[in-house]
Amino acid sequence: MLPMETSQYYLGLDVGGTAMKAGIISAEGTLIHSLMQPTNKNAGPNAGLALMEKVIRLCIESAGFKLDSIKAIGAAVPGIIDLKNGMILDAVNLTDWKNVPVRSHLETIFSKPIAFLNDANAAALGEAWLGAGKGAESMAFLTLGTGIGGGLVHQGKIIEGRHGLAGEIGHTRIEMSRPRPCSCGNFGCLEAYAGATSVLKRAYEALAEDFNKISDLHEPAEKKTLSCKDVFDAARNGDPLADRLVEETSSALALGVINILHFFDPEKVVLGGGMIAAGDDFLKRIRWFVKDQAFKECAQGEDICFATLGNDAGILGAAIAARQMLLKN
Ligand SMILES: [Zn+2]
Repeated sequence: MLPMETSQYYLGLDVGGTAMKAGIISAEGTLIHSLMQPTNKNAGPNAGLALMEKVIRLCIESAGFKLDSIKAIGAAVPGIIDLKNGMILDAVNLTDWKNVPVRSHLETIFSKPIAFLNDANAAALGEAWLGAGKGAESMAFLTLGTGIGGGLVHQGKIIEGRHGLAGEIGHTRIEMSRPRPCSCGNFGCLEAYAGATSVLKRAYEALAEDFNKISDLHEPAEKKTLSCKDVFDAARNGDPLADRLVEETSSALALGVINILHFFDPEKVVLGGGMIAAGDDFLKRIRWFVKDQAFKECAQGEDICFATLGNDAGILGAAIAARQMLLKN
């Protein structure tokens, strides 16, 4: 999809709570080289900005490139952002990261055009160009992690909205009566039912009512090691309580997907993030609920699929955003 241009390279940076990643792509969209360094989430924003510079320089150097070969840099960042001013307003998982001027900092250091976008949008862009959404005219992306992020791509471009908040699918509401509280302060959001944190919370609640202790999940719960993976594994092994939790999670996610389908009518819905490790059984359940409840003309079956780029989606999307910005200007 990316037209041929020789000797044009773009660098994508993915700022995360556990790792800082950088990757270089060619104008044709091939990932040439990438690397990552661990993020110390308690080291503060200045150490974070210094690490961004270090990771970018290391990536260019270890690829055998010179800074001059990089035409533009894209930075994908977590948390609440000020898109216009290129700042992280509050990176929830990084201590004290408030009002961090990422774009101006990188512009000053590298004297290059810097694209700035949120990490879910970057992953959406990566999947749309080079991953599971390749070739689709429109795509919705959901990232299923501790929370639920999302992004909408139409004709190869992110739909950002006025504040960069378009596609925040995790905070669309799916429950009105006795809604669960969400991390955003509202009630009844998709994230409060289908994010990994919510799966665990609901697991502990269900176990507290499983008086006969039939479920295999009691053991890890008592050891305080219960994970989302345990819940999905137990469901696969026929544990009725775990099966109910996975069914409820799939049903909630399907509601989120159906809302997207009826609102945006995309060609594809791509699900990414850590929770897709739950595998095909999880995807089948989501597809079943969607087929049961969505307009039959909307995306169905294989149009709802798992992401294929894994952890590279963010750096690829950030680099693509850098290229798009350069072509626009
Ligand atoms: Zn919410």
